[in-house]
Amino acid sequence: GWVNFTKFFNHIIDRFEMTITEHITFSRDIPSDSIFVDIDEDKITQVLYNIISNAIKYSPEGGQITFGVKQEIEEIVISISDQGVGIPKNNLNKVFERFYRVDKARARNLGGTGLGLAIAKEMVLAHEGEIWAESREGKGTTIFFTLPCEQEQEDEWS
Ligand code: ATP
Ligand code: MG
Repeated sequence: GWVNFTKFFNHIIDRFEMTITEHITFSRDIPSDSIFVDIDEDKITQVLYNIISNAIKYSPEGGQITFGVKQEIEEIVISISDQGVGIPKNNLNKVFERFYRVDKARARNLGGTGLGLAIAKEMVLAHEGEIWAESREGKGTTIFFTLPCEQEQEDEWS
């Protein structure tokens, strides 16, 4: 169904912000106007939950997580950036594979199954979007994904 993405995203971030116990700062770079997208709300909630959980899990004490939304012509680009351990360059695509975890020992301590990003990818692709990671080891990681949005067609009404 049609969802105002900026409101929906802020609501999800609010819920995380209220419940996290880690010392992490949240920062938002989200337009104040409405951006309507046709999505399955439950599935995109799951996508955001999986990505934000990772950002928190792999953040250092005192780290900042930045949430972004950019409107392009036919899509919106959503980004979640952390200042955590990062992902080595040659693993940037592999993290979206089922059961893949960068450092087995480290990952085991942090818990999880290695499915979060594989599920996120599946759901983003089902929405005809794309998902990818950019990272610098020791500096942090940004997960990006896109969702198609209707191009504003003011002409239609004039
Ligand atoms: P699960 O999500 O099933 O609880 P998981 O977090 O290990 O387990 P994914 O979310 O699929 O699995 O992530 C896969 C791997 O990618 C992680 O094990 C971790 O090595 C790496 N990774 C994912 N997000 C980040 C991040 N923000 N910073 C650093 N590494 C990350
Ligand atoms: Mg995860």
